[in-house]
Amino acid sequence: MVNDILTPHNKNGCILLYFDAKILKNKLKPHLCRQIFIMKYQIRNIIFIFVLIMISQILNEEKISELHKLLTHYDKIVITCHVSPDGDAIGSSLGLYHLLSSLGKSVSIVTPDATPKSLNFLPGIKEIVAYSKYTDFGIQILANAELIFCLDFNVISRVDKMSDALSSSKAKKVLIDHHLSPGDFADLVISYPTMSSTCELLFRVICRLGLYNEINKSCAECLYTGMMTDTGNFSYNSNRADIYIIISELIKKGIDKDKIYTLAMNTSTEERLRLLGYSIYEKMKIFSDSSAALIALSQSDLVRFEYKKGDTESLVNVPLGIPEVKWSTFMREEDGYIKISLRSKGDFAVNKICEDYFNGGGHRNAAGGEFYGTMKGAIDKYVKILEAIKEQHDNK
Ligand code: 5GP
Ligand code: MN
Repeated sequence: MVNDILTPHNKNGCILLYFDAKILKNKLKPHLCRQIFIMKYQIRNIIFIFVLIMISQILNEEKISELHKLLTHYDKIVITCHVSPDGDAIGSSLGLYHLLSSLGKSVSIVTPDATPKSLNFLPGIKEIVAYSKYTDFGIQILANAELIFCLDFNVISRVDKMSDALSSSKAKKVLIDHHLSPGDFADLVISYPTMSSTCELLFRVICRLGLYNEINKSCAECLYTGMMTDTGNFSYNSNRADIYIIISELIKKGIDKDKIYTLAMNTSTEERLRLLGYSIYEKMKIFSDSSAALIALSQSDLVRFEYKKGDTESLVNVPLGIPEVKWSTFMREEDGYIKISLRSKGDFAVNKICEDYFNGGGHRNAAGGEFYGTMKGAIDKYVKILEAIKEQHDNK
């Protein structure tokens, strides 16, 4: 019994106490044992509350109470996220969907376009309505909503062609996001750019609302997926201790984190693996003078390897494995424009490049944008950026 009480890991996953249980055991009298047995539950509860306070303390109290009021008041809820949704956008949308459904709310998810196949394993994914495919239905859902959650994006243009339908809805809007520079289109803005993912932020918001007990296994699986994918399986932007306290809580909700990794991040078609091999072997260019790397894939490259949405996800990160490469660019030819993705290491701010040159933005180390023109035009612009950066560097 004493061992059970005084182990270094309490049942809530926080290493806070340590006594040498064996030494104590010999000295304890039976009545003391009973008292410690009672204390065990008290200590467990105190630690549990402490953990929840610790992981939710950074949130603004007024915003949480405002959100609480909105949730008490409204029942018809719609959740949406950014175009080309990633694991964090879908994970946070579905995580919130499961939570609010378990509270008895009527909840719909409308995404600007289709979800990636790699996330098909997520519980509830089939409930998602893609606005690009079911536009009239999407307009109707947004118009009838009382409350709309906007997750994992900062400005309304990130919902692409759904912008008008979203902004014209009379529903109250709540933004929960971790991108820099949130816009002012929402009635309540819960924006914390220091968070590693919207899913991490959402977990904290849920705890702060006092709804930790309502997180079921499905909700936990979705939140974990977002936290994992937005940090490259906790390989960047993830060196904060409380992230792992949250993971520990999600595991206690019954998730199998190793299985989620395999399904979301380590499952490929043969064509996709060949496309990745080809992209690195044939298409990767290294610009040593500028510490830069570029991979640009044309429509014919994509057709050759039977490209499907999501197949090039995370390819942009690969060149960063070369120590000399500080920033990496990926270009993919879409219908009528070039999709641009940038990643960097350390202080090199790629969101600035995306804002200045590619109608985009994002985070310091992960950003994106678009170039309206040909692939040749995009590469010419890229070369100009290399020259500009080199010039800035030479002038320092
Ligand atoms: P990805 O390269 O995976 O498409 O995007 C990485 C990050 O860059 C996203 O999480 C998002 O913050 C940002 N981002 C990507 N594309 C755009 C864009 O067109 N506009 C803006 N503002 N941000 C983008
Ligand atoms: Mn995100």
